[in-house]
Amino acid sequence: MKPHSALTALLLCLSTTPSWAQTLPAVVKGEIPDLVETYKGIHSHPELSHHEEQTSALLAGELRKAGYTVTEHIGKYPDGSQAYGVIAILENGPGPRLLIRTDLDALPIIEETGVPYASQVKSKNAAGQDVGVMHACGHDIHITTMIGTARALVALKKQWHGTLMLVGQPSEELVDGARAMLADHLYERFGTPDLVIGLHDTNTRAAGTVSVTSGPAMAGVTSVDVVMRGVGGHGARPQEGKDPVVMAAEFVVQLQTIVSRQENPRDPAVVTVGDIHGGTKRNIIPNEVKLELTTRAFTDASQQIILDGIQRAAQGVALSAGVPADLAPIVTIVPNESSPPTYNDPALTTRVKSALVTALGTANVFDEDPLMASEDFGLFGLEGHRIPTVLFWLGAIEPAKFAAAQAAGKLAPGLHTSHFQPDPELTLRTGVTAMTSVAISLLHK
Ligand SMILES: [Zn+2]
Ligand SMILES: [Zn+2]
Repeated sequence: MKPHSALTALLLCLSTTPSWAQTLPAVVKGEIPDLVETYKGIHSHPELSHHEEQTSALLAGELRKAGYTVTEHIGKYPDGSQAYGVIAILENGPGPRLLIRTDLDALPIIEETGVPYASQVKSKNAAGQDVGVMHACGHDIHITTMIGTARALVALKKQWHGTLMLVGQPSEELVDGARAMLADHLYERFGTPDLVIGLHDTNTRAAGTVSVTSGPAMAGVTSVDVVMRGVGGHGARPQEGKDPVVMAAEFVVQLQTIVSRQENPRDPAVVTVGDIHGGTKRNIIPNEVKLELTTRAFTDASQQIILDGIQRAAQGVALSAGVPADLAPIVTIVPNESSPPTYNDPALTTRVKSALVTALGTANVFDEDPLMASEDFGLFGLEGHRIPTVLFWLGAIEPAKFAAAQAAGKLAPGLHTSHFQPDPELTLRTGVTAMTSVAISLLHK
């Protein structure tokens, strides 16, 4: 390219790049060293769902320091206990109300990444065994990204107008935190947003990149408990009882036909039995076996097919075993561990994607397929997707490590594993750049 044409190209580029996009890299760069330290601090002090006391206080403190009006301890769980929800408001003239959400909680996993800032925090599971606590879903990346975004949006306050509602949501992993905040009148007290945005990190993309799905993005989850009841007795005299272990085994096998035979093959769905417990000793037929199921689907109709199928399979197995009617299986939906699909509003997705491309370049923004994993983020959009929402993905794996894994036909260790290890510097830089760009472009003057 000749010098004068290079200059023309540069001028053309500058004239089409919004002024915030030119200023943003320097603003983000200045924040990164502090944000990396903040991230490491949060990473080494993870807290489980419903226990995010220090984490929420840290987020609240940082957002207050950044100039936001912060309210803590928002959220009521169905048992009446208080949730550690945070909301930070920044009013900046007339304009849309934009809600940006981060989650706060960690998982009961013993960290095995070997990083110097690895979690040493311990916890006990329901069986009393020692388990760790680890930010194995990267919510520490989300929190730190929010802190960085909050600061950047203050620094670039002249570039946007409207109201920011930054939400720190507890207990995403149990999918009851968003519901708890809404039940505590989040919108009645702080205003209903016009738009809702969130991000989630991922091991399926390299740090430095993002991806987004238009339309249904993540499945809805319905958690179901089943108690197969029988008649207990001596293990050597099965003819006198009704064995719930055999019934449970048949039930689990029958469940496999719901997705394969009852659902339309074009509607993705999952039925998984993750927990099955019954009995105390090898020669005793127990009275009951308890099963915990998770089910996933993208539509209400598809979810209903699953629930009906579970009910029929349970009742059918009991009937065929000759269980008396008063000991019929008990099938219960667990509402606090269920949430609707994450639906990315297509029009808003187009706007978000265009902001991401402006900030990160076309080569770093990918289209993503829908996932069967679930989130409670969609609840912030209210019933029937009344408020447009978009959740996008933030690549988190160091590019060289990502490429090496890919060359070996694998992925780096994923979310919810003891080896999940984001690249803090590049992931945070990309996350703050991406989220700030999206916010400014949605609130642009
Ligand atoms: Zn998770
Ligand atoms: Zn997560």
